[in-house]
Amino acid sequence: MQHIGPMNNLLYAILLAASFGSAFADSIEDTARGIHTRTLTLDTHIDINPKDFTTERNPGMRLDGVAVDLPKMNEGGLDAGFFIVYVGQGDATLKARKAAHEKALEKFRAIHRMTEEINPDTIQLALSSADVTRIWRSGKKVAMIGVENAYPLEYDQAYLKDFHDLGARYISLTHNKHNLFADSNYPKAGEPASIHNGVSDAGRNLISEANKLGIMLDISHASKKSALDIINYSSAPVIASHSAVDNLLPHSRNLDDEVLKALKSNNGVVHIVAFRSYLKETPHEKMQRLNELAEEFNLPKGDIWSEGDRIFSALFAQPKENIGAYFSKWKEITRTSPHADISDLIDHVDYVVNKIGIDHVGISSDFGGGGGVDGWEDASQTFNITLELVRRGYTEADIAKIWSGNLLRVWADVEAVAAASKQ
Ligand SMILES: [Zn+2]
Repeated sequence: MQHIGPMNNLLYAILLAASFGSAFADSIEDTARGIHTRTLTLDTHIDINPKDFTTERNPGMRLDGVAVDLPKMNEGGLDAGFFIVYVGQGDATLKARKAAHEKALEKFRAIHRMTEEINPDTIQLALSSADVTRIWRSGKKVAMIGVENAYPLEYDQAYLKDFHDLGARYISLTHNKHNLFADSNYPKAGEPASIHNGVSDAGRNLISEANKLGIMLDISHASKKSALDIINYSSAPVIASHSAVDNLLPHSRNLDDEVLKALKSNNGVVHIVAFRSYLKETPHEKMQRLNELAEEFNLPKGDIWSEGDRIFSALFAQPKENIGAYFSKWKEITRTSPHADISDLIDHVDYVVNKIGIDHVGISSDFGGGGGVDGWEDASQTFNITLELVRRGYTEADIAKIWSGNLLRVWADVEAVAAASKQ
C-alpha cells in the first residue's frame, strides 16, 4: 500500500470535496433545467410599446432594447406573459379621458396584431385559464392581456365589457395619482394622501362589474386602504400583479403583513416583482451618482423609479437632446452600479411563503416598465429564477405553483364566480 502522509491526506480531501462540490452544483443545475422545461412559466407583468408590434419591428425578431420578444422567451424558457395595456393617469377633462381610451385600444390592437397577424404560429392569446395550459401544451407561447390603470374607463365605465371582449383578464384600478375609482399609492404632487378613503363608489361598481365579467382585480399601485377595499369588495380572489414585500423594503408599492394576510384569506396571489427599488434600498454610491446626474440636468433629486413623476415632468420640458443624453447616462449608472439581484427577489418570495404560504406567491418582471434585476435583465435569463428556487430547496410542485399554478387557480376561481353570477 502506498503511504499517504497527513499533508497528502488533506490535499486528497480538498480535491475530493472540490470535485463533489462541482458535481453537486452540476446536479442542481441539471435538476433545475429539468424542472424549468416541465414547468409552465408565466410572467404577470410585461409592459409594451405598440411601436414594437409592427410588420417591420415585432416580437418575432430579437429586438434591441426590448426585454421580451419571442427569441428571448424561447432562449430563457419563458412560456407565458401578460402583456399590459397601460395608460398613465391624466386629468378628468372629456378630451383627456377620450384620448386615454384611444391609447388603451391602440395597445389592445398591438397585442392582437402579434397573436393574429404577425406571429400567429408562435404565440396565441389565452382568454381563459384553461386556454393557457392548452396553448402551452400545443408548443406555442401564451399571451394574455392585463390592464394597468382603469383611467381609460373614466371615459365610460361601460367599456369594461369591451375590454373584456378584447381579451383583458385583469385590471388595476389605479396607477400613479388618484383617479375616479380609487386612491393610488402615489398621489400627484400637491394631492392629499387620500381623496376617496380607498375605493370610491365608482370603483366599487367597477369591481362588481369585473367580478361579473370574469376579470381579475389587481391591487398593485393601489393605496393600502384601496387594496384592502378591493379585497373586501371583490367576491372573487384578487392578485397583486407586480408588487413586493413592505416588511423587507418599506415602499408604498409594496404589501405589508396586513395586506398579505388579507390576500391569504381572500385566496389571492402576489407576484413578486423584479423591480430594483422595491426589493432593495438603492446603494449610497448609486444614489450619489443619480443625484449628480440630476444636478447636471437641473432636475429634482432621487431615483426615477420612485420619483419618476417629478423628474420626468422637469426632464420632458427640456430640449430633446437633453432627454436622450440623460437616459444614456442613467442607463450607464444602472449598468455599473449593481442593485438587487435574483437572490434579493427570491428573498421576497421566501418571506411571502413563510408568512402566508406557498399557495399565494408568484413572479413578475415588469419588463418594459422599469423591471429587471441582475441575473434577470430580460426574458432570455428566465431560467436563473428557477435555478435559484431549486438552490433554496423549493420542490418541483412548489415551483409549478410559484411560476403559474397559483395564478391559474385564482383565474379559474374568478371564472367560476363570473359563471355563477350569470345563473
Ligand atoms: Zn406598474
